[in-house]
Amino acid sequence: MREQFVAGNWKMHGSLAANAALLSEVLAGIGNARCEVAVCVPYPYLFQVQQLLQSSQIALGAQDCCVHTSGAHTGDVAVSMLQEFGCRYVIVGHSERRADHHESDVLVAAKAQRVLEADMTPIVCVGETLQERESGQTAAVVLRQLQAVTHLLGEQTARIVLAYEPVWAIGTGRTASAQQAQEVHATLREHLRAVSAAAADVRILYGGSVKPDNAQALFAQPDIDGGLIGGASLKAADFLAIIAAAR
Ligand code: PEP
Repeated sequence: MREQFVAGNWKMHGSLAANAALLSEVLAGIGNARCEVAVCVPYPYLFQVQQLLQSSQIALGAQDCCVHTSGAHTGDVAVSMLQEFGCRYVIVGHSERRADHHESDVLVAAKAQRVLEADMTPIVCVGETLQERESGQTAAVVLRQLQAVTHLLGEQTARIVLAYEPVWAIGTGRTASAQQAQEVHATLREHLRAVSAAAADVRILYGGSVKPDNAQALFAQPDIDGGLIGGASLKAADFLAIIAAAR
């Protein structure tokens, strides 16, 4: 049985004061969560959030990493640095990175490999644009993105978390229906099953305007193992309600 997982992606939001207020409310309200919980925060706040989450059940994550392990890469952050700050998770291949920084499938796969080498877990994001969905290419696009990862990682694929995030649903208020999401998750799982029995058990999160009022229906689907939550993870009450919706 796969444990469900709810991960917040704060994106480029926050301040020292806002982070402390948000996490104090989340920690006060979380109780004994049924699922695993993490927050993926901007680099400058890793130290602060590591301190705030000490001895809590919430894990720490980052939102990206450099594909190189060290060296002359101004502005980049190495996986060893993320590990030093207690990160357990690193998001790679978020559609905003793919779009804003022209990240290719091959680069995303290599980043996932770096994260595993540093004994952390990559949360690998895949997802189609609206145009790709409307032209019937959803399965082909997400499988192309996933295949780049499974091709490079092979058996190690079993150690990743996958996130299906339709680009048209991220931050737009438009959510894939539970049925639309389940259909894509099942396609992704079929590919994982072909990689290995262990990879078939990879957790596949759904992301894209998950809110308290749609979380339960999404998380009830057989191949949806939780959510990657953007906007709603910045509001303690919403994030807590989404965590409570996990099975
Ligand atoms: C995300 O940033 O990964 C995301 C899913 O955002 P939102 O929940 O705001 O759509």
